[in-house]
Amino acid sequence: MTKDWNALNIDLSSGTVERETLSCEYVRRFIGGRGLGAALIAPYATEGVDPLDGSVPLVLAAGPLTAAGIPSGDRFSLSTISPLTGTVMDTNSGGRLGRSLRRAGSDLMIISGVSADPVVLVVEDDEVRLEGALDLWGCTVSETILRLTERWGKTAGMSVIGPAGENGVRYASIMTERMRAMGRGGAGAVMGSKNLKAMVVIGSGKVPVHDKERLKVVLEESNRWLRAHPVTSKALPALGTPMLVKICTRAGIFPLRNFQSVAVGEDQAYTGEELAKRFTVSSSGCTGCYIQCGRVTEAEGSRGEGPEYESLWALGPDLGIEDLAKIIPAAHRCNELGMDTISAGGTLACAMELAQRDVRPSTVRFGEAGSIMKVLEDIAYRRGEGDEMAEGSLIMARNAGAQEYAMQVKGMELPGYDPRGAQGQGLAYATSNRGGCHLRGGYLIAREILGIPKKVHGTQVLGKGGHVARAQDFGAVADSLSVCRFATFALAPEYWSRMLHAVTGWELGGEDLIRTGERIITLERILNLEMGVGPDSDRLPPRFTNEPLTEGACTGEVVHLDDLLAEYYAHREWPGGIPSENKIKELGLDE
Ligand code: SF4
Repeated sequence: MTKDWNALNIDLSSGTVERETLSCEYVRRFIGGRGLGAALIAPYATEGVDPLDGSVPLVLAAGPLTAAGIPSGDRFSLSTISPLTGTVMDTNSGGRLGRSLRRAGSDLMIISGVSADPVVLVVEDDEVRLEGALDLWGCTVSETILRLTERWGKTAGMSVIGPAGENGVRYASIMTERMRAMGRGGAGAVMGSKNLKAMVVIGSGKVPVHDKERLKVVLEESNRWLRAHPVTSKALPALGTPMLVKICTRAGIFPLRNFQSVAVGEDQAYTGEELAKRFTVSSSGCTGCYIQCGRVTEAEGSRGEGPEYESLWALGPDLGIEDLAKIIPAAHRCNELGMDTISAGGTLACAMELAQRDVRPSTVRFGEAGSIMKVLEDIAYRRGEGDEMAEGSLIMARNAGAQEYAMQVKGMELPGYDPRGAQGQGLAYATSNRGGCHLRGGYLIAREILGIPKKVHGTQVLGKGGHVARAQDFGAVADSLSVCRFATFALAPEYWSRMLHAVTGWELGGEDLIRTGERIITLERILNLEMGVGPDSDRLPPRFTNEPLTEGACTGEVVHLDDLLAEYYAHREWPGGIPSENKIKELGLDE
C-alpha cells in the first residue's frame, strides 16, 4: 500500500482551511507522528524565533499505526517549538483525538496563525470549522471537557487547554479528554497564544489496513508478549508508574528536596503500594490499551487522574512533602489548570531551595504543604510570585543570580531519577533534544534500573554512549509510530516492523526503523543548532557533576558527563556535538 497522507492546513488568522497531500515516500522517511512533526517544523526553526508570537505552527500528526487496532497504539503527536526551552519539541498523548482524525480522513493538521477571539477547532469528517469559544475561555480543563462533551458526545476526540495555557505559562500542558496529558515543553502555551481553546474531532470512517490476516497473526503474537512481560502484564496494571518509587529508592536514585539528597530505607509513606491501598479508586488508561497504567485517585475531596510516578515525586518528596493526601490534590489541580506537573514541581523545589539558602524569598518552604495549592493557582493565573514561577526554574533562578539551583537542562525541569546513580540517564538528560526529559533522552532507567531489554549497571560509564543513542533512536521510532513507550518494553523493533508492514505495506525492517529513528534525532539536533541551542547546552546542573551523593546505594557517585558525552558524540558521529557532513548525507538529511 502506498497511501499518501492527507494534511489539513488551518490558518487561525484568516479562518481558512486548505487540504494538502504528502507523498507516502516523504512520510515514510520520518514514519509519522514526532518524526513528521520535526520535518514540518523545520522551516520555522530559526535563531530568535518566538513560539508564542503566532509565527510557529502546531503540527498534530497521527502515526501510521494510529486507529489500526494496535496495542497501546492509538496515540498522536503534537510538534512545535518549546516556549520553555527554545528547542524543537514534540509531545504525545493517548486518547481519541488522533484516532478520530484518521477516521475523519485526515492524518495530520498544521495549525498556524492567531485567531482574533478564542475558538474551538472542529473537525467533523470532511467538514472543518472554527467556532467561537469566548464562553469557554477561563474554564478549567474538566469544565471545558464537560461542556464540549455535552455538545459533541462522549465518543468525540478532544484536546483542550486550561488557564495555564491561556496565560502563557511556559510549561502549560494540553489535556486530552481530561485524563491524558501532553505535559512537557509548553505546547499548551503555544495553543493559548493562538487563542485556540480546544480541538474536537469526530470521525466515522475506517483506516485502511494493507494485510488484515498478517496483522492478526502479529497482533496475537505481540499480545502474548505484552501479557507475559512482568512490567506490562503485572507491575503497571497493578500499581501504575508509581511502582517505581520503591525500585528507585532501592537503587539509590529517588531524589528528595530539589535533588539535595535521596531517599533511603523501605518505609516511605508515598509508595505505589500505599497509593493503591489508600487512595486508588480504579485503574484507567488510554483507549485501546491493554496495560491501563493510569489511576483514578481520591484524597481530601479531590478526585481525578494520577498522580503518575513523576507527578507524585515532583509535587511530593521533591518538595519535602511525604503525605499522599496532600500530593494527590496538587497533581489533580495541575491537570485542571493545564500545567506540567514535573516543571511545576521542579520550579517550586527550586524556589524552596533558593529560600532555604536566603537567595530569594518565597512563600513556599520545603515540607510545608499548606501553601502549595495557592501557589499552583498563582502560577496558572500569573499572580504575585507565581508570575515569575510561570517562566520556569531557570529564568527564576537566573534572575536571583543562582542558576545552579535550578535542576534543569536547556530550561526543562528534570524528572525524578538522580543521575548520579544512573549515568546513562544523566547523559540522556544532557542530550535530550527537548531539554531535561527522561522520555526524549532515551529513558535509560529501563536499562539501568529495570533491566529492559537487559541490565546495564547504573554507575557504569563505559558503553553508555551507545546505549543512550540506541534508546533515543528506538524512542523516536515509538513516538513516530505513535505507540506507547511502555509497549516497547515488551515488543522489540522487529515486532513494530511487522505491524507496520501489515498495516501500511511499508518494507522497513527493525534496523531500518532504528536508522529512521537516528534520522529523526539528528534532524531535531540540526534544528536546535539552527536556533542557537548547541553543544554548550548539553550540560547538567553542577550539583550532579561536582557533589557526590552522601547516602544510599550510590554514595560517593557523581556523573562523569565529559566522558559520557565524548563517547556519545563519537558513537553518533557528531564531532564536538555537531552532526558531521558525512552523517547528515548518510541519513539523507542533506536533501
Ligand atoms: S500503558 Fe498507560 S500511557 Fe501507555 S497507552 Fe496504556 S494507558 Fe496509555
